[in-house]
Amino acid sequence: MPARTIFGQRINHTHAVEAVAHTLHVVSLARRNIKFAFRDCLLGSDLRSIFVLIDGVRADVLYGMLNEKSLPNIRKHIVERGVIVRDAVTVFPSTTGPAHAPFLTGAFPGPLNMPGIRWFDRKRNNYQNYGPLAWLQFERDYVGPGAFAMNTDMSGKIPTIFERLKDSTTAAIFEPITRGAKFIYPPLANVMAKIFGPLRAFTWEHVDALAARTLELVYRCSALVKWMKIPSEPPVFSAVYMPGVDEASHEHGPLSENTRHAIKNVDKQIGHIAKTLIDLDLYDETSIVISSDHGLRPTSLHFDLSKFLTTVGLDVRTFPVTFLQGLGEFDATVAVSGNGMAHIYLAKEGAEDIAYPFQYIKHDWSKKPSLGDLENYRIRKGHVNMIDLVSQLLPIEQVFVSENKATSHVFSCNGHGVVKRKGRNNYSYDVVRGEDPLGYAALVEEGKIAYGEWLDDREWLSATCKTEFPDAPVQIAQIFESSRSGDLVLNSRSGWDLMPEIPPHKGSHGGLHAAEMKVPLLVANSNYQAKPDQPLRTLDVFDILLS
Ligand SMILES: [Zn+2]
Repeated sequence: MPARTIFGQRINHTHAVEAVAHTLHVVSLARRNIKFAFRDCLLGSDLRSIFVLIDGVRADVLYGMLNEKSLPNIRKHIVERGVIVRDAVTVFPSTTGPAHAPFLTGAFPGPLNMPGIRWFDRKRNNYQNYGPLAWLQFERDYVGPGAFAMNTDMSGKIPTIFERLKDSTTAAIFEPITRGAKFIYPPLANVMAKIFGPLRAFTWEHVDALAARTLELVYRCSALVKWMKIPSEPPVFSAVYMPGVDEASHEHGPLSENTRHAIKNVDKQIGHIAKTLIDLDLYDETSIVISSDHGLRPTSLHFDLSKFLTTVGLDVRTFPVTFLQGLGEFDATVAVSGNGMAHIYLAKEGAEDIAYPFQYIKHDWSKKPSLGDLENYRIRKGHVNMIDLVSQLLPIEQVFVSENKATSHVFSCNGHGVVKRKGRNNYSYDVVRGEDPLGYAALVEEGKIAYGEWLDDREWLSATCKTEFPDAPVQIAQIFESSRSGDLVLNSRSGWDLMPEIPPHKGSHGGLHAAEMKVPLLVANSNYQAKPDQPLRTLDVFDILLS
């Protein structure tokens, strides 16, 4: 970390953060004599667990760095005491927020009703509740203060790990999903990184360091500083979120030297966490799990999806929604996630509602266009097949459309596939026109799957985990369980994203490509018998953490 000038002095900022750690170390010496009392606090399992969520780290990049021996702490404290799961996949949409939830709830974003980092709730959007504060009710943008609503947006029927462990001490450190956690440490450091980031005075790598230091604080200090709401015993479960790698990947690209630097910084923080556990004599009774919410694919081309739909002749509402935009009438809403996937919500033709004075919205958004409506959709100058229009665009890889609860469609520029769901856990996939939009023809030739065959979710995961679109049939079916999913759900082509940003992003995610769906999963010192060659989903981490 280079030295910088602040307040007229040249200091090394990583060392400034570490000064906090040294202070904590002194405090911890006073705690040593009561450390043995901690053992009595374990409930259910004989292990505590710490889950470290590294935002946006690709499995191949992290595993490659482990092979090169560039990550000595992860090797020593995790790999040498555990298992590397080679084929772990996240969920669709592969984006921060919705892709955090599976670790902490064991559920897909669809049933949790959180289908994107941005979404629109058509059921709640009608003129009766339309007004300046309508955004509180019918749309969400977790890139910003909306992140505070994640806990209430997620279906309350599915308990979080914190709620499952309600009789124990649990801690959420910088993690946005905190429902039921006993101790919550909000990510104020992220705000500092946003404000001071351009000055390079406080970087995202410092946020990761602060996450590790906060965990140390939680573990070491306990009852000494009650006013800081520090638990009186080390938590039975802690979730620690480190956003640094994702930020470096968006800014410099997922394969860049900056990203590798951020991963090496995370390795340092893992070393710090391990040292805290060793000092407190908790190392052997603590399971550590490391994973990520998504990978990223390199991006160099930016397609403005909202602008495109405007040129077609639609009034488009797009995120981030401005106040003025919020007052106008609109025919379509575009919600992009991770910039590589998008939900498009379209008003149903003929479903106009009567607006009160000063309220401009006329469409009755509670009515959803059918598959037939989308194929013959009214725009200003006539009708158009919206599915064809979007799936023929060069930046679009696939368009997904739900026909009903059991049937979803997959369209590409030259093919049409159908995903069907039967009972609780049976899925089939068939190609009804042209080339296979998911590119599974090679699997069919090898005899691994057959078109139209019913397989359960584990069989789909095993068969497809090494393809360009791992686990796609199950992932497509689950996202449409959310009533907040779009009428068209888009996966962009590799190299493209769907929303311009300043500065332009060099890495994107959100979609179904292997680069964003495959995540590292390392399990150390756990009762769960993870196997290196058994494919898992990030949902399975929930069981690992509770084992
Ligand atoms: Zn993320």
